[in-house]
Amino acid sequence: MRTLIKGGTIVNADSMGPADVLVEGEEIALIGKDLDVPADKVIDAGGKWVIPGGIDPHTHMELPFGGTFAKDTFETGTRAAAFGGTTTIIDFAVQPRGGTFHQGLDTWHEKADGKACIDYGFHCIVSDMRDELLPEMDQLVEEGVTTFKLFTAYPGVFLSDDGAIFKALRQTATNGGMILMHAENGPVIDVVAADLVAAGTTDPIGHGLARYPVFEGEATNRVIRLAQAAGAPVYFVHMSARDALAEVRQARDEGWPIYAETCPQYLFLSLDDMGHGFEGAKFVCSPPLRTPDHAVELWKGLAVNDLQLVGTDHCPFDFHGQKEMGRGDFRKIPNGLPGVEERLDLLHDGGVVSGKISPMRFVEITSTAAARLFGLPQKGVIAAGKDADIVVYDPNRKHVLSASTHHMAVDYSCYEGRTVQGGADVVLSRGTTIVEGGEWLGRAGHGRFLRRERRGFSPITPSRVEERVPALVG
Ligand SMILES: [Zn+2]
Repeated sequence: MRTLIKGGTIVNADSMGPADVLVEGEEIALIGKDLDVPADKVIDAGGKWVIPGGIDPHTHMELPFGGTFAKDTFETGTRAAAFGGTTTIIDFAVQPRGGTFHQGLDTWHEKADGKACIDYGFHCIVSDMRDELLPEMDQLVEEGVTTFKLFTAYPGVFLSDDGAIFKALRQTATNGGMILMHAENGPVIDVVAADLVAAGTTDPIGHGLARYPVFEGEATNRVIRLAQAAGAPVYFVHMSARDALAEVRQARDEGWPIYAETCPQYLFLSLDDMGHGFEGAKFVCSPPLRTPDHAVELWKGLAVNDLQLVGTDHCPFDFHGQKEMGRGDFRKIPNGLPGVEERLDLLHDGGVVSGKISPMRFVEITSTAAARLFGLPQKGVIAAGKDADIVVYDPNRKHVLSASTHHMAVDYSCYEGRTVQGGADVVLSRGTTIVEGGEWLGRAGHGRFLRRERRGFSPITPSRVEERVPALVG
């Protein structure tokens, strides 16, 4: 099967310009001006961008939380991702407490195998970092699961103490893996949350009020220091607070391999959304939404590469029946928001259209940076020999985000009624057209498990002060 994409503008992280793309089988075969070659299918990309399919390195399909499960399966969640222009996800396989990493991985392979519509990899969530599991980390890195998420939050569920975090960091210093951190001071948050409930604040807003930005800043600083001591890189997931970003910025200025992602909810939503009585439950996630001044700093961080990319932390729970488990006590609301489908369009609209980032930076933070940081050399770039994960993206099409039209299996949208400019018109996954003109042409089971390369593959160098450009915002 040969597909020719004609007349578009190729946008990569480091260059942009008009060219045609010939896809042969699963890979990009040829790129050139005015290609005149026979093809089984020709896609007219006139006036459109041709960009590498999005990579969302932070999703939770079917995640168990507090006796229920995140609504999207690997089938519905990856289909929704594809409609939004994302062609690869990296999901989190949860180690059962007392069990091994491989047990968690086996469970997640079962969830994904034969169901995923796009390619996928796994990170491991470390539920208890026992010493005897350290060698298993080396084994996993060999097997293409190169990243391990630890927590300074959720005491009794996921929390690792500083010693355990240090040991895990030290292990990745030598095995080529990387630790991902959820950095918030969980034990202290629990004290404030209990105080709030005792004082009668039981609505969802309490979730946001209990988790001070400084608790994220403190935990981020602590983990950076531990990583420096261990001689290991570290990657912070879902960074939300300017306090935490300031720590990352300082460490990167000093040349340390410290990386961080943020998520659309921290750029486009705010603490106010968690008000309005129990409606605010729709916006309960951790870390929580912040006041708008934090988002200004996050945009600056994205513009100058103090933040390397944007993942979604997609973890959808229905408002009815699931979020409602926390009526009367915000601590019982399942944590998580839907978002895997809306990431590219939000970032295009709020980032590129508004002039905060360039089209090339848009591609970098939605795809290329994740491919580099997480060891996916076949992904994240439009180039000959790479996987033909391609999105024909219309940077001018306006549409309205709504639960009535989205493809995620959840009964609300965080962005209900919001008009965004930009949308994926045609989506190819390894050469197969899976979305075209709003129609689903893909299939469950098309997606393959991706064994990822160890860190060291095309590393992103730490930013240096002299490379900085003034942020376009604020
Ligand atoms: Zn997460």
